[in-house]
Amino acid sequence: MAGEDGVKRVAIIGAGWSGLQILQSLRERGMSAQIFEKLDLIGGTWTPALSYHSLNLHSPRYMASVFVHGKPFPFKQSDRDYLNGKAPAAEMHEYLNDFARTQQLLPHIALSSAVVAIEYSSSTRTAMLRVQKTASAPATHGPFDLVVFASVSGKPSLPPLDGAFGGALLHSSELRKPLLDEVVAKKKKVVVLGAGKSGCDMVSALRQHGHRNCVLLWAVWPRLGLFLAWLTGYMVMPVRSFRNLHWNASKFHFGSLNREQAADLREVEAVQAEPARLCREGIVLKSGELLACDVIICATGYDTGFADVQLVKDGKKFVIDDKEPLLHHALVPTFPCLMFSHSALFHVGPARGVTQSAYISYVLNELTVDERAVRQAQKYMCKQSVNRHFVYGDHFVDSFVLHLVDLIWAGILPVSSFVAFAFNFFVFSIYEPMWLNVGKHKVVKETQKSMLECL
Ligand SMILES: Cc1cc2nc3c(=O)[nH]c(=O)nc-3n(C[C@H](O)[C@H](O)[C@H](O)COP(=O)(O)OP(=O)(O)OC[C@H]3O[C@@H](n4cnc5c(N)ncnc54)[C@H](O)[C@@H]3O)c2cc1C
Repeated sequence: MAGEDGVKRVAIIGAGWSGLQILQSLRERGMSAQIFEKLDLIGGTWTPALSYHSLNLHSPRYMASVFVHGKPFPFKQSDRDYLNGKAPAAEMHEYLNDFARTQQLLPHIALSSAVVAIEYSSSTRTAMLRVQKTASAPATHGPFDLVVFASVSGKPSLPPLDGAFGGALLHSSELRKPLLDEVVAKKKKVVVLGAGKSGCDMVSALRQHGHRNCVLLWAVWPRLGLFLAWLTGYMVMPVRSFRNLHWNASKFHFGSLNREQAADLREVEAVQAEPARLCREGIVLKSGELLACDVIICATGYDTGFADVQLVKDGKKFVIDDKEPLLHHALVPTFPCLMFSHSALFHVGPARGVTQSAYISYVLNELTVDERAVRQAQKYMCKQSVNRHFVYGDHFVDSFVLHLVDLIWAGILPVSSFVAFAFNFFVFSIYEPMWLNVGKHKVVKETQKSMLECL
């Protein structure tokens, strides 16, 4: 169904870089879309509300570019050194704000608007949204032909540990300057739980402020693969030509650690053990040993936040399983007005939004979702979570590979597109949207020479 003007309407939940890019790319296609964002700012992970002290982009700037008509929206400078470096969270936030302002996206974004329910009607094949504005009763918006849930890290996730801790228990996203100063000044004993990117960042932030009373606890989820991926900041990827080989981890292509961070991690006391429960004095490990501390920082990743959204289908409560098989790893076949952006990892970073806008156009104009779609999705090899991006799970590498195989097998991702992507991304350091085999709604490939010539 389309609106009175014949235009199909899309609601996007979340104004992080995915939501913003999807909005921009849909508007470029002449489609109508609106974002609902629960925070009072755009930018998701990079807003002050969600970013912790000293958070940096761990990939180079150019891999975080948003796109306008196939060309990267420019950063403040365009020289190679700058684009290859990591940006502080505040700079990323400013960049996304500039993008939204100059592309006139702001009138299409409702801030402080948490989507609390999606109500689908199978007769009209449209959805209404229940939207909670701060301190007011939820209002209804719609109808929408499609709702895209665009959140990778919308909700900090704490581990399910029983017991009451007598000190301060916080998530890594809550580590701000005043708290950091207090911990350092009072020489509090800190346990950082989890050794992924944010765990490493926590250790580094503490040590660089002169704090020396910290233990890094590799927990039940020893995501070694992910940890090694961060460390590959020290690995050199060929950059256009072998002339550019270097061992400077702050000018890397993958990984998160710069020289200082890597040194901090070598110095910190690291314990590899499984926590069993909390107690007044600290964390009790499965071995029975007590790790006493004053502060526990849970660097345990994020959820999408989807679990907070209620679903209603034809007037009745509807539940989708966390491992619900999604068509093309994106669309919920049993609730076909709903799509996820985090699971359809057609790409990394904002370029995913460009590719996804082509997919959205295909879904709205060409795809028939029927029983076959349900069966097709059930056969996929990669089992994903609708609540958690696989980068925060235990099977990061295999999920990534299997999900690409599924998309190729489903005929949505041409092998040639993937090969082109892999060569461009891993060998030539070219960051551009992936194109999908979705009929006339293909993403038109345009090289971003303007920005990348200098790489
Ligand atoms: C600490 C950290 C560092 C990262 N570093 C990098 C990096 O360097 N490079 C990289 O490629 N990736 C990185 N990532 C991973 C990921 O790419 C980023 O989180 C990225 O910002 C995700 O963008 P997004 O738009 O998909 O979602 P998010 O940035 O997570 O934004 C989601 C938005 O949706 C909103 N939202 C959620 N639920 C609702 C609701 N019900 N109603 C309304 N609004 C809602 C949230 O408030 C949020 O603003 C990092 C992630 C984290 C957490």
